[in-house]
Amino acid sequence: MFGLKKDWSLDVLPRYFTLEDYEGAIARWCPGCGDHAVLAAVQRICRDEQLLPEKTIIVSGIGCSSRFPHYMKTYGFHGLHGRALPVACGVKARRPDLHVWVATGDGDCCSIGAGHWLHAVRYNMDMTVMLFDNNIYGLTKAQTSPTSRPGQRTNTHPFGAWLPPLNPTLATLGFTNVSFVAKTVDWNPVHLHATLDAAFKHKGFSFVHIHQRCPQYTAKIYEAMQQDPSTILLLNHENGIQLDPAVAGMYEHQMAHDPLNHNEAVALAGREDLLPIGIFFQNESRPRYEQVTTIGMEMTTEERIAGLNRELDRFAI
Ligand code: SF4
Repeated sequence: MFGLKKDWSLDVLPRYFTLEDYEGAIARWCPGCGDHAVLAAVQRICRDEQLLPEKTIIVSGIGCSSRFPHYMKTYGFHGLHGRALPVACGVKARRPDLHVWVATGDGDCCSIGAGHWLHAVRYNMDMTVMLFDNNIYGLTKAQTSPTSRPGQRTNTHPFGAWLPPLNPTLATLGFTNVSFVAKTVDWNPVHLHATLDAAFKHKGFSFVHIHQRCPQYTAKIYEAMQQDPSTILLLNHENGIQLDPAVAGMYEHQMAHDPLNHNEAVALAGREDLLPIGIFFQNESRPRYEQVTTIGMEMTTEERIAGLNRELDRFAI
């Protein structure tokens, strides 16, 4: 009939999501806190990728940044201190169809959660992990964290933190089966967004170390870096982050770094003269644990019971 198409599919998405569809409760972080920038970047990525809110989950532990799930209109799991990663791995193990994001802080991940951190990297399940590093326990009002700098005065070290700080980027690069490590800063929203976007698109465990400002307790720590871009080393490569020249141009120090080069990534992560930002390492060929944990999920209940009975017979139980 005239005017009728044979194929009526109009390539129109059944639902279109705007930013509002990902905005949960009003964020109650302090004014100027870097967490706001990360939240905005994640909401933009969700909108740009048109992630189904009901297929997206934010998992967190305890700390200021771990309030993240409340501020997203997706599923969320605000867990226990240090336990964001095992919960996220559990979610991915049984629901590989979900987009899993993890919000964790330097105290949450690198102290009480450190054991889970190294094994989650080794499991290499497909999720985007954001380490909010503000060098302090903010929610509990300024105790020394594993990344606090020597001399930094805190409630637990009023005369200044004493030990050398842990380097989360360097540590993660050393864990078995690592597949994606990047570093960014909250005060460059373009780089922050591009880094989180690359991490989200990586198939495997993406670890993004975010230098995050805490104007309440560690206001001075990143001030010099924020005000003087010559303290930053911008990593760029055709397989890494490629910024618009107008944004990249503000960085005097730049370096082409192939994210496949693990040795160079380790050397970069240990640099103390400049702060390198970008993708340090990426290798999508590493095995992902959900490739095993999801075997048999398509079976019916009857098939599973039959399989279980076969196992019981095998061991004559
Ligand atoms: S205490 Fe620091 S990290 Fe916590 S919300 Fe305030 S500025 Fe952000």
